[in-house]
Amino acid sequence: MILIDGKKAAAELRQELKHEVTELKVKYNKVPGLTVILIGDLTPSQIYVRNKEKSANEVGLKSEVIKYPDSVEEKTVLEKIEELNKDETVSGILVQLPLPKHIDKQKVIETILPSKDVDGFHPMNVGNLSSGYESSVPCTPLGCYLLIKKVEPNLNGKKAVIVGRSNLNGKPMTQLLLKENCTVTITHSKTKDLKAECLEADIIVAAVGIPELVKGDWVKKNTIVIDVGINKTDKGIVGDVDFDEVSKNAKALTPVPGGVGPMTIACLLKNTIECFKRSQI
Ligand code: NAP
Repeated sequence: MILIDGKKAAAELRQELKHEVTELKVKYNKVPGLTVILIGDLTPSQIYVRNKEKSANEVGLKSEVIKYPDSVEEKTVLEKIEELNKDETVSGILVQLPLPKHIDKQKVIETILPSKDVDGFHPMNVGNLSSGYESSVPCTPLGCYLLIKKVEPNLNGKKAVIVGRSNLNGKPMTQLLLKENCTVTITHSKTKDLKAECLEADIIVAAVGIPELVKGDWVKKNTIVIDVGINKTDKGIVGDVDFDEVSKNAKALTPVPGGVGPMTIACLLKNTIECFKRSQI
C-alpha cells in the first residue's frame, strides 16, 4: 500500500511556489499578497491562521492578518473587504470560517471580489468551476486532487465515489474529478447503501465528519482512498476512514493527520499566486 505523504507533498509544493514567487518578483517587481481576516478567538481558527501566515511567509508572499473581536459589526468587516478589494497589493482575501452568528457568511463570501477569492467560495468561482472555466478552486479538494494525481496521473474513466456533498469539499471535488473524465458518484447522509457504492470505486474521497466511517470491507483492492475527515476522539485525531482496516485493501491511502491537511494550506498559497498572475494580465 502507498502511504500518501501529504506533509512531503505539501513541502514539495511550497518549494515550487517559493521558486515561482522569486520569478514573479523579478518579472513584476512585486510579490503576491494574502490577507486573512480572523474574527473572534476560537482556538482552531487561530491555529489555522497562524499556520497560513507562517506558510505564506515561507514561500515569500506578502502576508497580513487582520483581527477583529467576536463582537465586531458585520458592516465593519464588509467595509474592510471592500477596502482590500481595491488594494492592488492584496492578491487574495480569505475570511477564516466559522464566523460569529451575527455575521452573514454568504454576504461576506459574496463581498470578496471573485478575482481575489482564494477560498473559491464565491458563487462566480463555484459556477466557473462547474462550467469547466478558469476559477479559484477550494483549497482542500484541490489538495486532494493533487494527491490523487501523484498516485495516478491518468484518471480517464476511473470510477470515483465522493462521500459527503458539502460546498467546501464534496461538490468541488466532484467537479475536479469530472474534469479528469472520472465517472463520479456523489453520496451523502441519505444514500441507501454507502458500502455498495464505495465497493464500486477506484477512488474514494471521504469528507463527512464521522470517525472511521469507511471500513476495510467497503474498499476493493487497488482503490485510492483520500481521507479529508478531521475528528477529535478519545484516541486522538482520526479521519473518516478506518485507517488500520482500509490500509490492508487500498492501493493508496492518506493518513490523518499528515495527509490532506498540509496540502490544504499549500493550495491556499497556490491560489494566491494564481490570483496574482491573473491580475497581471
Ligand atoms: P459538512 O459540511 O458537515 O458535510 C458533511 C457531509 O457528509 C454532508 O454532505 C452529509 O450529508 C454527509 N454525511 C453525513 N453523514 C453521512 C453518512 N452517514 N453517510 C454518508 N454521508 C454522510 O462537512 P465538511 O465541511 O465537508 O467536512 C467534512 C470533514 O472534513 C470534517 O471532519 C472536517 O473537519 C474535515 N475537513 C478537513 C479539512 C482538511 O484540511 N483536512 C478541511 C475541511 C474540512 P448531507 O448533505 O445529506 O447532510
